[in-house]
Amino acid sequence: MNRSELLASLARCVGERHVLTTPTDTAPFSQDWRRKYRGEAAAVVSPASTAEVAAVLQLAHAQRIPVVTQGGNTGMSGGATPDGSGTQIVLSTRRLNRIRHVDALNDTIEVEAGVVLEAVQVAASEVGRLFPLALAAQGSCTIGGNLATNAGGTAVLRYGNARDLALGLEVVTPDGRIWNGLRGLRKDNTGYDLKQLYIGSEGTLGVITAAVLMLFPPPAARRTAMLTLPSIDNAVQLLNRVRAELGPALTAFEVISAACVPVLQRHFPAMRWPFETLVPVVALIETSDHESEAHARDTLAFVLEQALEDEIATDGVIGESVAQSRALWTLREHLSEAQALEGSHIKHDIAVPISRVAAFVDAAVKQLQRGFPGARMAWFGHLGDGNLHFNVLAPVDADPQAFCARQDEVNRLVHDLVQAHSGSISAEHGLGQLRRDESARYKDSVELALMQGVKQALDPLGLMNPGKVLGPMPEG
Ligand SMILES: Cc1cc2nc3c(=O)[nH]c(=O)nc-3n(C[C@H](O)[C@H](O)[C@H](O)COP(=O)(O)OP(=O)(O)OC[C@H]3O[C@@H](n4cnc5c(N)ncnc54)[C@H](O)[C@@H]3O)c2cc1C
Repeated sequence: MNRSELLASLARCVGERHVLTTPTDTAPFSQDWRRKYRGEAAAVVSPASTAEVAAVLQLAHAQRIPVVTQGGNTGMSGGATPDGSGTQIVLSTRRLNRIRHVDALNDTIEVEAGVVLEAVQVAASEVGRLFPLALAAQGSCTIGGNLATNAGGTAVLRYGNARDLALGLEVVTPDGRIWNGLRGLRKDNTGYDLKQLYIGSEGTLGVITAAVLMLFPPPAARRTAMLTLPSIDNAVQLLNRVRAELGPALTAFEVISAACVPVLQRHFPAMRWPFETLVPVVALIETSDHESEAHARDTLAFVLEQALEDEIATDGVIGESVAQSRALWTLREHLSEAQALEGSHIKHDIAVPISRVAAFVDAAVKQLQRGFPGARMAWFGHLGDGNLHFNVLAPVDADPQAFCARQDEVNRLVHDLVQAHSGSISAEHGLGQLRRDESARYKDSVELALMQGVKQALDPLGLMNPGKVLGPMPEG
């Protein structure tokens, strides 16, 4: 089948208007959010239903054409970007955007994969429920992308990752069959839990077209506090204490290192940082209280008072209103973007057991300072999950290109330390193409072989997002 026959066949699957082919039209789909990867798509197709996805995949399967599924394109690991060959089709889920059904009695919502995360949150709140997955890209990222990357975000501590919030999935297999696993069950022990294979598979096993997600009762009040701390060790101690104090009401425990603050202020000068002096670590704590506003505030005030009294913290503020709490979150949510605007930074999305976070941070900072004098350790993240975005910025007066040229050395140093602390080199952003080879370096060989076996079983022709997550299959 030549190119024009392929485009005509795709048009028959989804309608001519929904097959993009010119470089101008396909360009936004061919580059990732970080502008680190750029590829070239043979075409971008946007099916509007599961049946249309199936038709596209049947065609791609028959013609042996690789397919890269793309949701909101906010992924951090280049997972949704086609390669440069011009032979891959990008399948955009943006038209799979219906909220199919809310079952308030079962506390579930069934949505299509292209629904934007924020729209699910809104739909849940309209029926008096909470959909707790929350992350800074929630205005653009999609549920399909969230599930395909097993997204984390700011409420994992209380509600878990995307994986923990999905009860059922609908998936189109690489040969175009539709698996309807849209079960809204909290118990189902009928064999292998296939949905868990697709969750976190980054588009390498099939296309997720819809999901049944869990809803929760919304809290009566949410309040946020920010505390300044002398060290990461103090932050870990504080987390332990706040956990015991707040129990399940603790929904987020985030940390921000000192080096993040000037970068945020430079790129978002209108945002007011609440503290005069720069301290090593700031903790952002959120409680979701099921009693009342007053109870939420009093609980946080007690936490702050105790932390100050015991000299775990040096200062703190409490968001006295929803708006003030929101403003504190806004600071946290703009850190990624501020660092992207700053440029010349080397990102890491790592996790270590919470008990080892302080040792990891101390060792990494020390070794990086020794090897890369002046480098700024602008780490922040979800301490409650042991997950830090351990980003290293070029020294202020350094040549950014020369610094970034040493990226592999920085990665090796950080990831070797992660390994030494029994951690993971990709906590919530997935492997995509960014971490594929490094993951193979650190993963147990048996685990890697089992993963290859799963890929071979579910996508024997290797058509789904080739080159992502796993390298080429070993011979034989
Ligand atoms: C400012 C900012 C903050 C972020 N914060 C967080 C955070 O706190 N926590 C976090 O986990 N992530 C975070 N991210 C990363 C990103 O938002 C998440 O990975 C998100 O889940 C990706 O969703 P998406 O729809 O944009 O997916 P895309 O970027 O389009 O795709 C990501 C991967 O999923 C695959 N995929 C997408 N849709 C499907 C589907 N329907 N079926 C099968 N495969 C599919 C793609 O092929 C690709 O491999 C952040 C990103 C930004 C820009």
